[in-house]
Amino acid sequence: MPGKRWTRTEKQLLKKQIAGGIPAHNIVIENRTWNGIAYILRALRIFWNNRWTKAQIRSLVRQIIKERKRLPDIYIEGKSPAAVNNQRRRLRLRGKLDIGQALRKRKYSDEELAILEHYGCKLGWTARQICEAGMLPNRSYHSISKAMGRQGYGDPVRVERAKQARRLKREERKNFEQFIRGDGRKLSSERIAELWGIARNTVNFYRRKFGVSLSWHEARAVSSTVEKRQRLNEIRRAHLKRRWTRYRTEQIKRLLSLQQRLKRRGCQARTRVCKSCACEWFALPVFFPTHTDKRKRGARISMSRTCRICKMKLKLEKGDESTMFGEKPRSFV
Ligand SMILES: [Zn+2]
Repeated sequence: MPGKRWTRTEKQLLKKQIAGGIPAHNIVIENRTWNGIAYILRALRIFWNNRWTKAQIRSLVRQIIKERKRLPDIYIEGKSPAAVNNQRRRLRLRGKLDIGQALRKRKYSDEELAILEHYGCKLGWTARQICEAGMLPNRSYHSISKAMGRQGYGDPVRVERAKQARRLKREERKNFEQFIRGDGRKLSSERIAELWGIARNTVNFYRRKFGVSLSWHEARAVSSTVEKRQRLNEIRRAHLKRRWTRYRTEQIKRLLSLQQRLKRRGCQARTRVCKSCACEWFALPVFFPTHTDKRKRGARISMSRTCRICKMKLKLEKGDESTMFGEKPRSFV
């Protein structure tokens, strides 16, 4: 909705600024809002966009090559540091900047994308894990991380956390340095991260940077918060449980096939009926656990009435973790 009519001087002022290369957003005309300026630009059919002008590119190249400026020092009117960074990369790719090597961006192949989908999306691995496991040997951690981001495979919680990542401002950094040199010395990185509302990796980074990183022993002593220990325990338990389940199914298969083999060969051993499953197995230690009683003289060796398969099942149902996780799976055959 147009408000006050635009005067001729106002329009001239506008055109002058546009001609002077001032980006539309930075145009200043007294008593006119951005909405008003945008309206009149449309009405006057002046189309503007954010494309880099030749002058801007020349200026950028000069600042990089001649003045050897680094990113934070480069200034291009109307361009953000991110825009400057992107343009610099494009120029480098086109070989317009002879400093530094032109890092070609290699597109992810279908196989690589399939690997990413499998580990990153289906199995929920992090970029760090995929990188360290060597699943994509030709890709750096950063490359994998970025690719996962583009595919939207990141863990939503983690992604959200990363988005809200907070950086320390200059004064904060001073206070923070004092803190980790002093009071924070004996705190875990996790705890410090919590206190300051920053990522644990950031804490570790500064610890290394200020040379107050903890020794291995110190780190062990302070880094295990209760919450972390519990989390790790849960992961380990789930892992062991899976291993045991797999082990059991394999063991049951083995015992069944062994029993059949022995039968076919006409095994002469006595048979014994399991009191739990009522199956008839050969009365061999392979199928029934035995127990040696050292106090008895005669029949010292006794055989369980429950077969090994049932014993395993009972153990599983009881969820007896002490026996489940304490000992390693033994081989029976
Ligand atoms: Zn049984």
